[in-house]
Amino acid sequence: MDTTRWAVVTGASRGIGAAIATRLATDGFGVVMVATSAAGCSAVRTRLEGTGVPGEVRACDLADRAAVDRLTEGLLTDHPTIAALVNCAGIVRVGPVAAFSGADWDEVVEINLRAAFELSRALEPALAAAAAAGTPGGASIVNISSVMGLLATPGIISYVATKGGLDHLTRGLAVEYGPRGIRVNAISPGFIRTDMFETSHPPARRLALAAAHPLGRVGTPVEVASVASFLCSADAAFVSGAIIPVDGALTANLAIPRIDA
Ligand code: NAP
Repeated sequence: MDTTRWAVVTGASRGIGAAIATRLATDGFGVVMVATSAAGCSAVRTRLEGTGVPGEVRACDLADRAAVDRLTEGLLTDHPTIAALVNCAGIVRVGPVAAFSGADWDEVVEINLRAAFELSRALEPALAAAAAAGTPGGASIVNISSVMGLLATPGIISYVATKGGLDHLTRGLAVEYGPRGIRVNAISPGFIRTDMFETSHPPARRLALAAAHPLGRVGTPVEVASVASFLCSADAAFVSGAIIPVDGALTANLAIPRIDA
């Protein structure tokens, strides 16, 4: 009988998702890594070999609904209990509202919001089974949202809309799944040094974005992963429906001139 505590992490090929997969493996979870890039996930799995827990790679384009169905069917067949699901895969598309293409809108919605919903819905029986089997703290879904779920900036309308939706999906699932022992939370990162950050912003803007965080810098993927680790642990047994900022006080800051000067 497989006694592994399994975690499924989307967007695990790099960036925040890779850091979360690594941290959960260190915590003792067997980790299923999902992304379009099997090579990226395999590289992460190779780094996990020293942890002694199993790692699996499942290539899937989360924008492809039939592929998502095949992914969840395979996961349910192979893993009757799943202790944690981390919906981390995400993309951003840039452009003013008037010129925003329907295809860009749809792609961002599919990956950032619909895939999180579909995985949370399809894997619910395995999450509930893990909770019923006595997973410490219950089973856990963690959605990687963004400060953009709370506040907006121009030029990324589908990103902003999907992250707001992901925050409220989190609350809706938390109240519906709570009676089955499944906790559902979200993390709202500020700017984090990953491919998404490096490719979305030229150097001068990266400096300005860092300075906008009261801590004076952007965050790192492991600083998000440590909060995901907490949320998937028994230490968070009574934490559900929460949207937790990991943003160096970015969203606490009313960015106006100092009034004591
Ligand atoms: P990243 O470095 O660009 O990584 C994105 C991940 O999503 C990759 O693993 C990518 O894998 C996966 N992905 C993208 N499209 C996919 C698709 N169609 N199907 C399956 N997987 C797909 O981004 P990141 O910065 O780590 O971001 C991770 C999450 O954190 C996102 O939800 C993002 O919105 C959120 N976030 C990031 C920041 C930041 O400043 N970096 C701030 C707030 C929130 P493949 O390319 O291999 O498919």
